[in-house]
Amino acid sequence: MSRVDYYEILEVERSATTDEIKRSYKRLAFEWHPDRNPGSRECEERFKVISEAYQVLSNPDKRARYDSFGHMSSEGLFTEFDFEAGFGDIFGDLFNEVFSGAAREKSRRGNDLRYSIDLTFDESLTGCEKTIKVPRQTACSGCGGRGAAPGGDVPCQSCNGRGELQYSQGFFAIRRTCPTCGGAGRRILKPCKECRGEGHLSIEHNLTVKIPGGISDGARLRMRGEGDAGQRGANGDLYIDVHVEEHPLFRRDGDDLHCTVPISFVQAALGDEIEIPVPGGNSAITIPAGTQSGQTFRMKGKGVPRLEGRGSGDLYIDIHVEVPVKLNRTQKLLLEEFARASEEENVPMAKRFVSKLQELINK
Ligand SMILES: [Zn+2]
Ligand SMILES: [Zn+2]
Repeated sequence: MSRVDYYEILEVERSATTDEIKRSYKRLAFEWHPDRNPGSRECEERFKVISEAYQVLSNPDKRARYDSFGHMSSEGLFTEFDFEAGFGDIFGDLFNEVFSGAAREKSRRGNDLRYSIDLTFDESLTGCEKTIKVPRQTACSGCGGRGAAPGGDVPCQSCNGRGELQYSQGFFAIRRTCPTCGGAGRRILKPCKECRGEGHLSIEHNLTVKIPGGISDGARLRMRGEGDAGQRGANGDLYIDVHVEEHPLFRRDGDDLHCTVPISFVQAALGDEIEIPVPGGNSAITIPAGTQSGQTFRMKGKGVPRLEGRGSGDLYIDIHVEVPVKLNRTQKLLLEEFARASEEENVPMAKRFVSKLQELINK
């Protein structure tokens, strides 16, 4: 939620009349309207703020509250304001003529498309380039997207070629895409042979997608303008959903990786050099004598490359000491001998535990 002054946003004095506010809003909204500045996020944001300011200052009650309490009081009013839904009403009221063209254009924006990409775990870490085949609607070159053979269309009679119908409903003027011509504004008498009057053809495009290293399962990439062709160049977008295969050994946690490595109790007691997996290969680390189950070794920077910013997360080697199972006779005898040779000092945790327990009993 913006903290900017609504009067400044609308470029009016604090003493401005409702008419002055309305005039100023009309001028600014016209200038910043997203349909006049396609693809500009800045304009879209600015336009929202302008609309927000107008919503408050054009309403005497809200304006009085804003004058007394500032943004604090109005915040609650706008968190639920749906800007997309809001546009229609404001425009129906104020800009019927001005924006009817723009609105029509908007209704003919191409469809957004969705595509799924499967990545191996390694690909998700290193990043990769994938070439995908996307069938998408492309404007027919034979008729320039009009769908008619040369000279084969006339203005639609239902909407007089405007592509939309207008009617009033209570307070608001409502516009709808003309159902007869579907918003095209033309009626086709002789369809284009290439596209059979559709105005577009489904053509398979090869697209190269650059997947950044560090991308996670479930991420969605947006490729602007790579969706279906609209008319007058307003293409839809292509959304790419990324699925990452699970790794048999690594578990990802944000930018960090975890790997549980089992070692024998002998290795744990004596210490050892053990082989561990790292992204893209293997590595060796030294486990010190007396390593306990559950102990973790951190390998700095061996985790997932950070999508934003530099560096990588860490790799955590979680040690699991495995107690041997299915002992044979010789092994049992050796262990029993080992037990007899063991001393309290070999097991400090157990020693502490026993002494705590004794204390409790003797209380
Ligand atoms: Zn029509
Ligand atoms: Zn055609």
